[in-house]
Amino acid sequence: MKYESERKVAIDAVLKAGRLCQAVQARLVAGTTLTKGDRSPVTVADFGAQAIVSHLLAAAFPADPLVGEEDADALREEANVALKDKVLEAVRGFLPALTGAEVLAEIDRGTHAGGPSGRHWTLDPIDGTKGFLRQDQYAVALGLIEDGEVVLGVLGCPNLPIDADNPEAGSGCLFIGVKGQGAFMRTFDDATEQPVSVTDVDDVAAARFCESVEKAHSSQSHSALIATMLGITLPAFRIDSQCKYAAVARGDASIYLRLPTRKDYVEKIWDHAAGWRVIVEAGGTVTDVYGAPLDFSIGRGLSSNKGVIVTNSRLHVPVLEAVAAVLDL
Ligand code: AMP
Ligand code: MG
Repeated sequence: MKYESERKVAIDAVLKAGRLCQAVQARLVAGTTLTKGDRSPVTVADFGAQAIVSHLLAAAFPADPLVGEEDADALREEANVALKDKVLEAVRGFLPALTGAEVLAEIDRGTHAGGPSGRHWTLDPIDGTKGFLRQDQYAVALGLIEDGEVVLGVLGCPNLPIDADNPEAGSGCLFIGVKGQGAFMRTFDDATEQPVSVTDVDDVAAARFCESVEKAHSSQSHSALIATMLGITLPAFRIDSQCKYAAVARGDASIYLRLPTRKDYVEKIWDHAAGWRVIVEAGGTVTDVYGAPLDFSIGRGLSSNKGVIVTNSRLHVPVLEAVAAVLDL
């Protein structure tokens, strides 16, 4: 199978990074001295997760560069020695042999510019930092881009209920999509994979849609108008991070709306690459608000796109029509 070793390494890396995030978040629950506005727990998990994924990718695929959200500049500052020590401690829980210098170097590998040719990985070590701090949803998102196309995506969702209809039955899911090979879900603790697919809802009025919890990341006033125009009565399913892609991929919702709140905002490739491949393999469709495909070939940003619209494919045309009408495109 093509990408077999990439798939295996990516799953292992995302699982380890996800477990590091879970461990940091568990200490948060335990009531560490977290004052309001203190973002250090999420910072430790963010840097730690990037170090782990970067190291495991470099060990397996030394020629592949990485486009990651973080770099280690802040950790090299004198004022942040305590933070750096916490990152090192968290990483060594999984990779005990790494030196401090190696951890910083692994994080710094993420500064690659991306672009149209060759292959590179893209990583959001914690997508949905606001959700992480709220003890809610977040994701570790890893994609592999080859000549501008995302060919593999692994989404780790450490807090996502395994069964959306039974949230008490455990949480922690991984979603895996490889070009032409379908989309699969497994749990953090059991490697058995189940295929996932989007809903077959074709009556848009009966659809459930998801969007960001954060008003600054997606226009909730526009989505409410779009829902009304489409006759949708189910309330918006608000969930942080690329867990929205996961929710549509396994049929918890049929639509994901990400509507620009600012003219100048450029979406980042690491915020969409993994989710994009998972959704496509699950039978869904992703475009921007104009109906254009997402272009991952430009660099670190989706600079030729505006917003993101995801559907189960059947609903894409009516949803895009309503988006165009409401946004006056
Ligand atoms: P979500 O959890 O869906 O709200 O998305 C979280 C992501 O939103 C973060 O990873 C940020 O990169 C991204 N983000 C930050 N500012 C904006 C913005 N103005 N519009 C859209 N996305 C944003
Ligand atoms: Mg993100």
